[in-house]
Amino acid sequence: MSVVVNQASANEITVAKFGGTSVADFQAMLRCAEIIKKDSRNRLVVVSASAGVTNHLVRLSQENVPEQEREDIIADIGRIQFAITHHLACHQVLDTEINKLLKALAHCAQQQAGQHCLQNSDEILSFGEQMSSRIFAQVLQSVGANGHYFDARQVMKTDDLYGKAQVDLAQLSANAQALLLPQLANKVIVTQGFIGSDEQGNTTTLGRGGSDYSAALLAEAIQASNLSIWTDVVGIFTTDPRITDQARSINEISFGEAAEMATFGAKILHPATLIPAMRQDIPVFVGSSKEPDAGGTRIQRQVDSNPTYRSIALRREQTLVTVKSPEMLHASGFLAKVFTVLAKHQLSVDLITTSEISVALTFDNPLGSTQALLTKAVVEELEQLCEVSVEHGLSLIAVIGNKIHGTKGVGSSIFDKVNDFNIRMICHGASEHNLCFLVPEEDANQVVERLHETLFSH
Ligand code: ADP
Ligand code: ASP
Ligand code: MG
Repeated sequence: MSVVVNQASANEITVAKFGGTSVADFQAMLRCAEIIKKDSRNRLVVVSASAGVTNHLVRLSQENVPEQEREDIIADIGRIQFAITHHLACHQVLDTEINKLLKALAHCAQQQAGQHCLQNSDEILSFGEQMSSRIFAQVLQSVGANGHYFDARQVMKTDDLYGKAQVDLAQLSANAQALLLPQLANKVIVTQGFIGSDEQGNTTTLGRGGSDYSAALLAEAIQASNLSIWTDVVGIFTTDPRITDQARSINEISFGEAAEMATFGAKILHPATLIPAMRQDIPVFVGSSKEPDAGGTRIQRQVDSNPTYRSIALRREQTLVTVKSPEMLHASGFLAKVFTVLAKHQLSVDLITTSEISVALTFDNPLGSTQALLTKAVVEELEQLCEVSVEHGLSLIAVIGNKIHGTKGVGSSIFDKVNDFNIRMICHGASEHNLCFLVPEEDANQVVERLHETLFSH
């Protein structure tokens, strides 16, 4: 990707992303507006939908939603958004826009109830960000920051894999520089995370939690100097603070470690967020919009300390598929056949272990995903090659740190304390940054808590 950029202005730009809770209500939006106003480098703002709205939209995007339920959901979305706009002095024009969007949403939802369609599903999912970005631009204006709405679909060009569209980086870069960068010289631009558009101009989405990724992609496209991810916790913690109150914020962490955390389920960042930041070497800050002065986590290439244990990530709802075939014994090409089937269905494998005649693979099956990932069709196709067993109800735990593959005593430090649990499918050695294994879903929190106490209590 060749990038020509107006260095003089781009050097000064921070892309700031606000997640759902940060734009949940008027007070929250006001706090975010103050964050933007305080630092003139904050010139591109990427927002999520207000908290709860995307979950509502996911329901509307499903098949056969009864009319009354559709109406109730749309009324509730309206309530969430108007409760914010009503705090603004001149909200009539904005309210008219929101009403227009709600009407368009009702139309899409009605069509979806009649005939389910993935393209329409993405259209429906996009309304949350369309509304929150319009509203936040006005909130910025209300505090005297020059906020202007910008439709991300003009620049975020993707393929048509609805629900998890892939971004065309070259087009994004060219569009962002032509349409977005010039505006940043004298305005604060507010745009949507999560959404894009395909070649035909149809709306697409990048997958749940995708606003972090959008912000990182936009930061890369305009060669921003910083990316700030403002959320509801004071940075990245040693583990999900909802699991244990012993979790503590990490001051700084390398790109590699943070990327592993995101990949292995630390919900704080969308798994792909750090890829653009690493490509362009853009430092990322993660902090809380509720406590902007409380510090946070700096993610960058070089960090001062590289501890063996940095954090523990947990990813729920894993599907474990074991494929077994005597053909594998002393034969070549069997794995290639299995992976050809998976590639054909665009399924990506997370963990893998093999024995002489069997291979165990895990797939992510995230809650609220708009698409069934491991479909019956995939299993049937695999069954033509081998015996297949599918297990659900598992969680993946990843211990993340540095030189984990080459440090003595790692295995016993981790497993000695949790040997009363049924540990499955240990993956260790491929990455210097992690050691992963599966546990039954119902034991996951306890295992994380116990490990956290062992590895981080000093
Ligand atoms: P946003 O809406 O701002 O994108 P998310 O809910 O997607 O926020 O992500 C923030 C949440 O991620 C936190 O409230 C926390 O519960 C969860 N989380 C999971 N793992 C971690 C971690 N290691 N550090 C901090 N937060 C984490
Ligand atoms: N609003 C989308 C979601 O809830 C994207 C995001 O918030 O990052 O998944
Ligand atoms: Mg998020």
